[in-house]
Amino acid sequence: MSALLLRNATLPDGRSGQDLLCEAGRIVQVAPQLTAPEGAQVIEAEGWLVSPPFVDAHFHMDATLSYGLPRVNASGTLLEGIALWGELKPTLQQDAIVERALQYCDWAVAKGLLAIRSHVDVCDDRLLAVEALLHVKQRVKPYLDLQLVAFPQDGLLRFPGALPNLQRALDMGVDVVGGIPHFERTSEQGAESVRLLCELAAARGLPVDMHCDESDDPLSRHIETLAFHAQRLGLQGRVTGSHLTSMHSMDNYYVSKLIPLMAEAGVHAVANPLINITLQGRHDSYPKRRGMTRVPELMAAGITVAFGHDCVMDPWYGLGSGDMLEVAQMGLHVAQMTSQAGMRACFDAVTVHAARILGLEGYGLAPGCKADFVLLQARSPVEALRLRAQRLIVVRGGAVLARSPAATAALQLPGRPAMVDWTLTR
Ligand SMILES: [Zn+2]
Repeated sequence: MSALLLRNATLPDGRSGQDLLCEAGRIVQVAPQLTAPEGAQVIEAEGWLVSPPFVDAHFHMDATLSYGLPRVNASGTLLEGIALWGELKPTLQQDAIVERALQYCDWAVAKGLLAIRSHVDVCDDRLLAVEALLHVKQRVKPYLDLQLVAFPQDGLLRFPGALPNLQRALDMGVDVVGGIPHFERTSEQGAESVRLLCELAAARGLPVDMHCDESDDPLSRHIETLAFHAQRLGLQGRVTGSHLTSMHSMDNYYVSKLIPLMAEAGVHAVANPLINITLQGRHDSYPKRRGMTRVPELMAAGITVAFGHDCVMDPWYGLGSGDMLEVAQMGLHVAQMTSQAGMRACFDAVTVHAARILGLEGYGLAPGCKADFVLLQARSPVEALRLRAQRLIVVRGGAVLARSPAATAALQLPGRPAMVDWTLTR
């Protein structure tokens, strides 16, 4: 593969005028005014921001782009979404799942999203979705990292056959052990499912990523059990609690004990701002709770927190486009993380923090990292969030995967000469 030189880019840490030299799929040098090797492709960055690619730490690719099948979620609640998915599941065709997933991966690449952790429902004895997404994982491998989580949507203990199905999915090559303790029949069964799943993951040497306490119930406390087993089984750094929305409603005193336990257990957290702000608080009149977990407090305790997209046009959510800047922007609004440091942390939640949770090798812009990056029409991460900046160029392994034109406006103002505004980022 020939070399690629990205000239005159700004890095997320603020250094401007930087050139990135890529050879054999890796970044080999980052410095001002590098010389292009013979035959290298040269891309002028014109001072725009280069970032490592976006990473989505929580998604459901088996359900994506199925909005309206067989009907729309009228109440907008999580539980109607689960019931609707249950209606759709028996009618699913493998080809259709593959086609929708591949289409979504196209959207993702165009938006600079090159790594996705997707949960895949194992509460279907045919394991159609598992087979389909394992196929998609191989198909997209040259351009997108797809990590799969075996997810017992209808409950590990509540759905007959969920445990053998989940084990079969892991045998077939699914990467991560999932769970949904708050959906089991009782709190005790929820806690039992967490124990079983953590022990299964420990025995197989796999990571854990559970839907955990996706509820407004302040007494839904499976995250405590998850942290306990992570610590007990020595799974520090390999366990993720997704959603954790009950933490929003918990008593502050209890949370002051819980968060240090999570930090001690090395548990990661994933919030899903677009979905949490629309699904939670549905049983409230006014005031309505926001329902997203305590993102700034978790970050302040040193816990790795990422934002996930969770859903795009499926039984739970009728919007979305694979744009992780939209996800991060919603996250910063819901969490009121409007300081400069807070906004930067939200950018990290869809890039470096998410990459850490997925355990991606060679992620970043330092020499030695993979030559994967996105050139954004912005001068800084905060500006990228403000503008949901255009993805000018998306690169993987030193090769261009996607290009988008710069956002401009042709202005014809009374009393002013006609002009093209290239400065939408000022
Ligand atoms: Zn989810």
